[in-house]
This record gives sequence, structure tokens and C-alpha cells, in this order.
Amino acid sequence: MTTEELYAYYLKNPVISTDTRNISNGCIFFALKGENFNANQFAAQAIEKGAAFVVIDEEEYSTDNKCLLVDDVLTALQKLAKYHREQSNIPVVGLTGSNGKTTSKELINAVLAERYKTFATHGNLNNHIGVPLSILSIKPDVEIAIIEMGANHQKEIELLCTIAQPTHGIITNVGMAHLDGFGGFEGVKKGKAELYNYLKQTQGYTFINRDNSNLLEMSANAGLSKLIYYGTENGNTIKGTLKSSDPFIEVDWTNHEVTTTVKTHLTGSYNFENILASICIGDFFDMSADDINSGLSKYEPKNNRSQLTKTETNTVICDFYNANPSSMTAALNNISVLTADKKVAILGDMFELGAESENQHELIAQQTENNDLDEAIFIGKYFYSFKEKFKGTYFETPTEAAAYLKENPIKNSLVLLKGSRGMKLESLLEYL
Ligand code: ATP
Ligand code: MG
Repeated sequence: MTTEELYAYYLKNPVISTDTRNISNGCIFFALKGENFNANQFAAQAIEKGAAFVVIDEEEYSTDNKCLLVDDVLTALQKLAKYHREQSNIPVVGLTGSNGKTTSKELINAVLAERYKTFATHGNLNNHIGVPLSILSIKPDVEIAIIEMGANHQKEIELLCTIAQPTHGIITNVGMAHLDGFGGFEGVKKGKAELYNYLKQTQGYTFINRDNSNLLEMSANAGLSKLIYYGTENGNTIKGTLKSSDPFIEVDWTNHEVTTTVKTHLTGSYNFENILASICIGDFFDMSADDINSGLSKYEPKNNRSQLTKTETNTVICDFYNANPSSMTAALNNISVLTADKKVAILGDMFELGAESENQHELIAQQTENNDLDEAIFIGKYFYSFKEKFKGTYFETPTEAAAYLKENPIKNSLVLLKGSRGMKLESLLEYL
């Protein structure tokens, strides 16, 4: 089956599923393979549940004419998305970076949606499967799409660019994330710069934080020319100043015609740069300051990233969606500038750091001693190994920490709850 033939099916049924638990009537089911599963086996089940067609790559599972046989299901999905992208010429803003992709994506969408019919990546669907699925969710009436692109190894962003074909791009920042797969920090820079290289080749526009010397170096190396700058200095298209971050971020900004202030519902001073990026993109797409501010001030995070939640007894910074050394440092610096009678950090291990794991956990544990905290609680085997070295209460697992919190409830405090996804620190929220 060729991509064009498959596209004809897609046009009749433009809803895609890759999960038999999530089949809607008339969708096309792509039978992907993973390390521990082969969805070809579920082809018949998908049809039974209402899939109009199933795309498979093992002939033995071809039971009737609803089964569309291809060489490789993942490649077919990616080619179909690329083909769909090529049928339209709307601007696509491609976003990558070590931290703040999803937040920036949400903010850019909140801004642009004030004026345009937008599509933005749902949730965190940012990988080699998520990006094609996102692209295939773009309906004909969409005017601008914002696509999050994640990576944990080289050449991934390059591949995602060939599918999403961004006309505009932004790298939020480069930091200590996925060091294992990228091969250290220089590897992270190289991997993320694949977006810049793509924009150079295709003469796309790049939005860039001029306060970030790593990004400047990467953009110079890529030879980018169509650059739009944002940052804290004069001379940027958008100049911003962090007016307040206690507890919510307020930003003064100017595009040199209008000077204005926006109040947001985001906490965490690191969100300043995410907000500025979204202002810069809104301004580039000809939006008024009022519309930009309106989109930003309406946005309320509900995704456990920088979300300030009041419980019966405490105020919790719910940031347990994910963690790496850069975002941990940013979160700890943030809690140290917030006003509260008592401050507690509950930190879970950070994953995917490879050879850097021990060292990076040590640096974070050490940092907590300088961060004006009343109490630090560490959870996970990496942090646990520093039990004797730095002040704090240590647990090997969240279950042990939960038992402790039940016995020793934290009260009237500002609590930072942050760790890698795999630590599932949300389980502790009920004890706070
Ligand atoms: P993922 O790789 O999981 O997709 P992401 O890049 O999409 O992550 P977000 O989900 O937006 O990032 O944010 C994750 C966490 O990173 C936030 O909760 C916050 O702690 C931190 N963070 C967000 N923006 C920044 C930033 N600009 N600089 C440093 N840390 C940030
Ligand atoms: Mg994300």
C-alpha cells in the first residue's frame, strides 16, 4: 500500500488510533510494535471495536479487506503525517528544548488562539509517534499549528522536522536533560540544534532568547539569519522584565511601540522566559498587546507543571510531572524567593542521567542546603546515597515517604513537590 493510497483512506476517516483501548468508530488503527507488544495481534479486535481500517505489517493478521498491509507500520504512520503536512501551507511553529516545551507550547497556543484557529500538540505527544499523530490531528480549518518535539538522542529532532516541517521554530533552552541518550551536555546542544539546521535549510524563522548564550552559539553555528529575538536587554524585538514572581509571574514587556504588563497564573520565575517566548511569537503573528495579554492572563496550568495548589493545610507547588537537574535547580531557586512562613522541598530522583546520575543528585542535595528551606525530604535510591552527607530526611521509596508524612504531617507550609515521572510523587499529594 502506498502513502497516497493510505491517504485516501485517511481523508475518509481522519481519526487515528494506536491503542485498542481508545478506538473511536470509523478510525484508522495503526498496529505499532513496541519492545513488549505487537499490535498486529490486536488488528481483529480493533475492527471489532469499530475501526474502519487497520494498518498492519504482518500478513498473517490480515483477516479481511479492512486490513491495510504495509512494510512497516511506524514508517507508514510517519510518511502519512508528512504527506498530510505537505497538503497544507499553514505556518507550523516547531518547539524543542530541554525544559519548558509543554509549558511554552500551551502559552503560545493560549496567545495565538486569541486571534487564530490553532492546533497545538495534545499533552506531551512529542516523540516519533506523537509528532505524526499531532500532525494528523490538524484539520483543514487550522490556521497555525504549534508542535512540540521531544528527543532523547541524536537525529530525533531531524526526523521530527521532516515530518512536521516547521516554518518557524524555537528552542526553549538547553540543559541537563537526557544526558544519557544524548551523550552529555554538548550532545544535548547538538541534538537540539537539529531544529536550527532544519530552519536554516528551509529558510524558516527562528525565535531566540538572547539572554541564553548557548542558544546564541548554536544559532551562529547553524548560520541562521531569519532571527527574532526576545530577552531582557534593549535591542530585542520583545524586551521583557520580570516584575513579580511571588507567587505568580507578572511581566513588563515592550515591542517598542507598546509597553504593557501582563499578570499570569503561572508560578516559578523560570516561566518568565516561556512567557516572553509566547509574547514574541504572538507579536510576530501581528497580534495586539491586548490580545497577547488576554491569552496569557487567562491561561491556568492544570498539568502538574508549575501549578500552585492550595490543600487544606499547605500550599503545594505541584511540579511532579517531571524533573532533571536544570529544572530542579530552577524550582529550588524559585521556592527560595517565594514568601512563606515555612518552606519544604520534597524531591524525588531524576532519571536518564547515565554516568552523571550520582554527581547531579549530589549537586541538587547540596543546593538544598543553600536554598532557605526549613525542611528537605529526599526520595529515591540516588538521593538516598547522600543520606549521611547532606541535611534532610531520606527515603528509598515514595511509599516510605507517605508513611512518614502520615505520621508527621506538614502544616502551614509552602511545599515543592518535584521528581522524575517514574517517581510518581503525585501519590504524596494526599498527605499534604
Ligand atoms: P518534557 O521533556 O517532559 O516534555 P517539557 O520540556 O515539555 O518536558 P514542561 O513540561 O513544560 O517541560 O516543564 C517541565 C518542568 O520543567 C516544569 O514543571 C518546570 O519545573 C521546569 N521548567 C519549565 N520551564 C522551564 C525553563 N524555562 N527553565 C527551566 N526549567 C523549566
Ligand atoms: Mg513536554
